Parts: sequence; structure tokens; C-alpha cells
Amino acid sequence: MGSTQLYGLQVTQGVQKVKTITLFKEHDVPVDMEAIVGNLNAICKTDTFKKGKSRFSVKSDVVQYPASYRNLSSTIRREAKNDLFSFLMTNKQYYNNYFFESHGNLAILSFYGWDYLTKLSRNNGLVLFIADFLALEIDGTYRHQDTTGCIYDFLWDKTGIDAGMRSSFICPRCLTRISTKKLSKLQRDLLVDLNQILNVLGAASKWNLDIVEYWNTSDTAQKQEKVKDEQVLPQLDFIPDKDEEGYINVYREAIKELCKNYLELTNEPLPPNKKGKIFEQFARHFFGLIKGWKIIECNANLKDCEIDIIYDISEGPEPLKSKLGDNIYVECKNRIDKSDSRDISQFLVNLKSRGLKAGIFFSYNGITGYSPDNWRNVDAAYKRIIDFCRQERTYALPMVSRDIELIRNGGDLVEHILEMFNRFIRI
Ligand SMILES: [Zn+2]
Repeated sequence: MGSTQLYGLQVTQGVQKVKTITLFKEHDVPVDMEAIVGNLNAICKTDTFKKGKSRFSVKSDVVQYPASYRNLSSTIRREAKNDLFSFLMTNKQYYNNYFFESHGNLAILSFYGWDYLTKLSRNNGLVLFIADFLALEIDGTYRHQDTTGCIYDFLWDKTGIDAGMRSSFICPRCLTRISTKKLSKLQRDLLVDLNQILNVLGAASKWNLDIVEYWNTSDTAQKQEKVKDEQVLPQLDFIPDKDEEGYINVYREAIKELCKNYLELTNEPLPPNKKGKIFEQFARHFFGLIKGWKIIECNANLKDCEIDIIYDISEGPEPLKSKLGDNIYVECKNRIDKSDSRDISQFLVNLKSRGLKAGIFFSYNGITGYSPDNWRNVDAAYKRIIDFCRQERTYALPMVSRDIELIRNGGDLVEHILEMFNRFIRI
């Protein structure tokens, strides 16, 4: 975690995501919730966006306050209960022709007459509304009565929303007001997210672009060069069992380079599917460093950053091959959170359903209750898994980014994997 200056305020970077914002819409509102959720999650540090599961509809012809809120289904209420905000989108008009009102953490957003107000997409509109709520959470004491383009405009004249999206800024007067207020930690964190959101909304809107389209094209144009092609990443096809020609150093360098590339790429604010692609390349190259291991099946769920790979290891190094059989299953996860014993249970089920007896469970961001530096002290849930492996004669190997660090700092990949398998089996 580091801290930085923003609008004259000290703000923390790298804070843990805690605040959920869930999106719901009526079926006829043309908003791409999936793309917006994915891309906002990639740029926001504090807010986590989610697509709601419950069905939402406004029962009456006009959105009423508070009746339309009272009539919301109990499933929506339950789902939205712990949210910072829940946004419910409709094309229907508010009784007072507002864009929105709110009740607790629930806000019905009205896109009524949208095409008469602006030529910009409703996707941009949703992102503006989200920014608006964050701005009010940071400071709800003031609103401009005229249209200035500032996020603090009240928008009495609804066509002002066009200027709002295109300028996406906080005016100097509002900035001064905010910077002299005593903000809570949450408010300061929200300000960091608001800054990111306004930057991207303005960048798209001022060129008349749908923000989702903007994300798609800027991914291909600007980020593509950073998502290096597979062949650009280093790949070696030997095992450095004997260091006859100084290969071990080359090999370590290759892993170091691979990890460095990976970390650099994932530090960028990328949408989840791009992160997934980079992680897939990383995982494939990492295990591809073992001579003789050939991929026979690979399923990548790029949005969730999860990959299943099956390797034919029959022509791989001997100690692993005779112990584990011809094929090995590798499950790779790169979620924000640690994996837990439930994930490993599921992994064992997947492993068995494929008729395999050995697998590597690689969770980049760690596994609850497991540390390669202190592997004897595993928690109770994790111990049950070990017992299960014993009973089923299954070889399951947990692996986390720390293991890669150990290899990078001087370990031999095959030796390390073998040692981990041995450890696991011997516990
Ligand atoms: Zn202002």
C-alpha cells in the first residue's frame, strides 16, 4: 500500500475492496451491465461492482416515490442489503421527471426520453449516475443549480447531462470545497475511484463514443502491445538437472523474466478478460518450462481468471512420471481473494471426474491455511483435505505465488514440484 496526493488530499492506494455496488435493470434497458461491471472493477480500488441476479420491474406506469421502492421484491432487497448502493434501471419516467431519487441504498435510475437529451449511449449515462452517487457520498452538501458540466450539477435542465458526461469533471470551486472538508477514510477512497471513473467517462464521451466501445477499442489499440504474444514470452525446453552449460542460470532468468512480465502486465488497470488471458499465458509458460510436459487439453475461463490444463507428462522427467501417472491436471486461479479449502475440495472432484490421480492446484493469490514456508501448520479444514487425498490415493499439490518466488530465487522447478508432492504425501 502506498499513498499519493490527489486534489490536495492524502489518499491511500491499494486498499482492499469492500464496498459493493449492484446493478439491476428492466429487460428493455439497453445497458451492457457485464462490460460495465468488468471494466469498472478493473479501474476501481474500493468499489466492487456486481450484476444483480434478481429480476427488477417497476409495477406502475410512472416511477413513484416511495411507492415504487416499497413495491420492490424481497429478493432484490435481500440481494441489495449490504450494498453501498444498488442501482435499478428503468425506461419509465419519474413522477417529477427526475433522473433518480433514492431510498436507503436503493436508487431507481430513469432513462426516460434519453434519446432527446443526448446522443451519447445509456452506458455512459449509467457510469455518470454511478459517479454522481460517489460524488454525493464524498460531499452531499452542495449542488450547482445551473448547468456547469461539474459532477455536482443538480441537472434541473435534463439536457445538461450531455455536458456532464462530456466534461466529466469536478469544478475548481467544488474541488476547493472538498479539499477543505474533513473526509473519512472511506470518502477519501471513494474519491480515488471517482477520479478513475470520471477520467474514462470523459475520455470516451468527449469523442462521442459509447464507453463500452471505448473500452473495447482502447484495449485493442493501447493495451494490445502490452499483452505480448505467447512466443514473445521466454520458453525453454530443457530441465537443468545438470548444469553442464550454465543452463540453470538461464533457466532461473527465464522464470524471473516470466514473473516480472506477468507482474508488470497485471499492474495495469486491465479488464478481467485481459488479465485472464495474461494469466493463462503465464501459467502455460510456467509449467511449459518442464521438459516433456505437453498440453492435451486447456479450458480457460478468462473472465474469472481460471484455467484448467491437462498435461501429458509421460515423456517428462522420471521422478514425477512414475509417481503420478501419464497425465496430470493443473487448475490455476488468479482471483483477488485467496482460495480456500472449499475450492480445493472442488478441485479434487474435478480431478477425480477426469479419471486422474494427480493434480496441481495453483492459486496465485494464496490458499487460506497454507503457506509453503510453514507447510506443517495447516488449518483443520485443510487437514481434512489431506486425509481425503490419502484415502483416495490422490496426489494433490497446492501451489501459490510464494512457491514461484522460491523457484525464482534459486530453486529448480522440477525439484521444487517433486519436493512439494513429497511433503504433501508425507504429511
Ligand atoms: Zn462544481
